[in-house]
Amino acid sequence: MPNLFKVAKFGGTSMADAAAMTRCANIVASDPDKKIIVVSATAGTTNLLTELVTDISIEQRVAIAEQVRDKHIAICNDLKEPGKVLGKVEELLDELLAIASRKQIMTGLLRDEIFSFGERLSSTIFAQVLEEVSGSKVVWLDARNVIVTDSDFGSAEPMPDQIAHKSDEHVQPALQRGRIVTQGFIGSNRQGVTTTLGRGGSDYSAALFAEAADADVLEIWTDVTAIYTTDPRIVPDAKPITEISFDEAAELSVFGAKVLHPATVIPAIRKNIKVYVGSSMNPDEPGTWIVKETKSKPVIRAISLRRNQTLLTVHSLEMLHQYGFLAKLFSVLSEHKISVDLVTTSEVSVALTLDSDINTPGKQKLTDEVLEKLRSFCEVQIDRNLSLIALIGNNLDATAGLSGPVFGSLENINIRLICHGASSHNLCFLVSESEAEEVVNVLHKKFIS
Ligand code: ADP
Ligand code: ASP
Ligand code: MG
Repeated sequence: MPNLFKVAKFGGTSMADAAAMTRCANIVASDPDKKIIVVSATAGTTNLLTELVTDISIEQRVAIAEQVRDKHIAICNDLKEPGKVLGKVEELLDELLAIASRKQIMTGLLRDEIFSFGERLSSTIFAQVLEEVSGSKVVWLDARNVIVTDSDFGSAEPMPDQIAHKSDEHVQPALQRGRIVTQGFIGSNRQGVTTTLGRGGSDYSAALFAEAADADVLEIWTDVTAIYTTDPRIVPDAKPITEISFDEAAELSVFGAKVLHPATVIPAIRKNIKVYVGSSMNPDEPGTWIVKETKSKPVIRAISLRRNQTLLTVHSLEMLHQYGFLAKLFSVLSEHKISVDLVTTSEVSVALTLDSDINTPGKQKLTDEVLEKLRSFCEVQIDRNLSLIALIGNNLDATAGLSGPVFGSLENINIRLICHGASSHNLCFLVSESEAEEVVNVLHKKFIS
């Protein structure tokens, strides 16, 4: 078998402490094909940094920076030779503390700069762990020199052509010297200012590195053994999936399965890179292969749940036999960078779902200004605390008799909006947040278990 070129990504729980890092280093060291290693911040660190950038006092910011310090110093002290890395880690922590202590307004730019410390710290420590475990040269690479993005701070859009150039310039020469350890989640705009790809973005970073370096395989090592038929935290009886298609995996993640960032498969599809999802805690357990074509094509392969959905219903008699209403509605939303997920329309009303996106500071929401603009030409109703449930599989649009059993099994549940037929890979609907987990359990039992 010829040598393969693999990019391996390890998530936050896989970087949680020195023991977890050592497990990951063993996974890498045992396979010479794993050449680029992309890591997330240590577990909980990005959450702490997200708190740090909120509207709090300087004392509170400093307290959070100190918490980040304690965590990382503790990990260093558990290594065989802390002295080899403590200096670099302290330098980063001092820099973070200096930024946190300054009186300043939290702009998107500054937030991303602060978030970047999470991955810069974890990758610095992990590079040392990997060098100790593998006994071979490890090159620490600043992902911001490679992952070029636009300037949409907080959810920056990568530029694949630029990334390919930067990869030739920085990744290829580094590979001549040893294995690369780099950061997920972070990049920089064309002016070299730090950006981030949005929460959970390290999977996407790893896919971008794999694409740019022409890798054969992208491995996502996480805290579950595989992609499951639904989130095992919600349904303990969920089953691991052996093989799933790019399209199904994309839909599963878009509709809320946190196991993979929704954009991860995009670079993989562009270069037909096989993706493997496995557990860094149990690396020998079989994981999931995400491939272009799967052997089996079940109608329902998996169920996903996306929380924090808002339903916006607009109503106007102006719509009746008229044109231009939808254009007017969507232009207001696009002007305010509000992204719409699902849409259903009737003669006189339109219902849309929006992600409430509570975890992304600075993101556009349904502000009073937006609502005022909408109310100038239609009636507006807003329902919050909803969840989107999606059945993911194949030929869902062309399978006769599907909706009867699906909705029949939910006869006591108030279903707010149904989208069926737009994609052959999903059938989705909205329910109230409080009933969502029960719905996933009922459907999983009936259609998958
Ligand atoms: P990492 O830190 O490694 O990126 P994440 O927390 O982002 O890990 O993603 C892993 C988590 O995704 C799991 O712990 C699990 O709770 C959740 N998850 C949601 N849906 C699924 C699914 N269908 N299969 C597996 N895990 C899922
Ligand atoms: N550290 C970032 C986050 O927690 C990116 C990632 O882990 O994928 O969102
Ligand atoms: Mg993740």
